[in-house]
Amino acid sequence: MARLILNPERERSLLRRHPWLFESAIARLQGRARPGDTVELFAHDGTPLGRAAYSPESRIRARMWTFDSNETIDDAFFKRRVAMAVGRREMLPELRDRDGLRLINAESDNLPGVIADRYSADRYGDTVVLQLSSAGADKWRRAIAGALVAATGCTRIYERSDSDVRALEGLEPVTGWLHGEAPAETVSVIEDGIRFQVDVTGGHKTGFYLDQHDNRRLLGTLVTGKQVLNCFCYTGGFTLQALAGGAAGVHSIDSSAPSLALARSNLALNAGLPSARAEWQEADVFQTLRELKTRGRSYDVIVLDPPRLAPTAAHAKRAARAYKDVNLSALRLLNPGGLLMTFSCSGGIGVELFQKIVAGAALDAGRDARIVRRLSGSADHPVGMAFPEGEYLKGLLLQVD
Ligand code: SAH
Repeated sequence: MARLILNPERERSLLRRHPWLFESAIARLQGRARPGDTVELFAHDGTPLGRAAYSPESRIRARMWTFDSNETIDDAFFKRRVAMAVGRREMLPELRDRDGLRLINAESDNLPGVIADRYSADRYGDTVVLQLSSAGADKWRRAIAGALVAATGCTRIYERSDSDVRALEGLEPVTGWLHGEAPAETVSVIEDGIRFQVDVTGGHKTGFYLDQHDNRRLLGTLVTGKQVLNCFCYTGGFTLQALAGGAAGVHSIDSSAPSLALARSNLALNAGLPSARAEWQEADVFQTLRELKTRGRSYDVIVLDPPRLAPTAAHAKRAARAYKDVNLSALRLLNPGGLLMTFSCSGGIGVELFQKIVAGAALDAGRDARIVRRLSGSADHPVGMAFPEGEYLKGLLLQVD
């Protein structure tokens, strides 16, 4: 096995169990290693630090598999790690009855670059969607898939390794059935009594934003008799929960025609929901919010769940302007006493900065507002203690005067 020797003092983050090793921390590679190969890590003074996946193309040159320098990285290793991640979900009562569940949350579950989401509302068995985004994860695809089958008994696994971050690791997109075959019907998930179809092959990421489960449920409890605006509605998650919660009307906006088509189809699928109260609009949210103000529209509850505007801290400044703009426009549309549920899923923007941006937007909108809840991802999206980068979803529930 090749050895990676670190520069002096650069083992500190590893000793705190942070799983990434940047190129600048590395003094030299002893021996040969190809992308995804397991390498042994040593501090400058020769202290062994553990084993990692090597990724020569990426600025994150190695991702730790284990901090135990005696642990072998093989099929059995992945079987143990995957079983532990799945077991963590089974331990939490709130997750036990969920058929839409993130089973593996990458670094935060000690499996760098590995995401696995399970959808199991179907008569014809469970579907797991697997996303591999690092060279190490890519190399161990068969072991990881086998471990998932062993831990969950799932009927099929679809690989959706097509996120843009793969390019940073020098990896091509990979998609297709890894285990089992395509099901006869569209995959679906039931969330708090509402059925959503999930486009596992063509939808965003793994097909459904499971991290918003708790927040969609919360919205359902806040909207009885209210006029709701759901911005960036995707396949209708917040919209359908608002309709189920008794909203008087829900106006939903997204720029993606296929997402809106699936959202409408999801509404039709749930016969008990009042479809006449839903208004769908294919448009750019940033522009449309200003137009709605000009047209004199207003709402009691607004949801803002934009796509990732700042993937890394380097994008934070420009993204901050966009977040401020969209929050400001939304705050201007709120009726007195109205609620804004606003989110950021940008890794590059921390909780504190997000709150500052939204506070600035309220000030500029001339609205006095207070935070009534801080919001985060659901419990099946844990955040590793030494891995703040894993906290993607952050949100605020604000009430304006
Ligand atoms: N709230 C959703 C997830 C939102 S994902 C849920 O709970 O399922 C972000 C969505 O924003 C995507 O559907 C994407 O199509 C949409 N989007 C991206 N840029 C947009 C823009 N400028 N205007 C409107 N929608 C946009």
